Amino acid sequence: MSLFECNADKELMVRLKHDADLVQSITELARSKGIEAGSFTAIGALKSARLGYYNQSSHEYREIKIDSPHELASCTGNISLKDGEPFVHAHVVLADEVGNTKAGHLLEGIVFAGEVHLRQLEGPRLERKYDEVTGLSLWNAE
Ligand code: ZN
Repeated sequence: MSLFECNADKELMVRLKHDADLVQSITELARSKGIEAGSFTAIGALKSARLGYYNQSSHEYREIKIDSPHELASCTGNISLKDGEPFVHAHVVLADEVGNTKAGHLLEGIVFAGEVHLRQLEGPRLERKYDEVTGLSLWNAE
């Protein structure tokens, strides 16, 4: 286990723009506000999305395309640094018109309406580094 003790700093409530990409919007917000670490939740609705399912054997993301409107029933994520830049990692649960859900790692989500609660964190540098076991960029373990 790697432990990073952080303190909550600012809390930001953000309404996303129509037709913006959720991941890009939060990345740009972090960049413009100098946020290097944080966590967030979001709710709303997406027009379309691309989800990822990480294959633990091949170390590749399988892409799941969603080309219809869905409720953004849940979105949770974090912000840390990758190559010195703010990096957003988000997972979503999307619900269709009868309440069936699809979920996964969010690659792209085109916003119909989106409300984000972002908590900025202060503390040790939370930096992603390549992890050989998983093939993912994980928080650097000293
Ligand atoms: Zn993920």
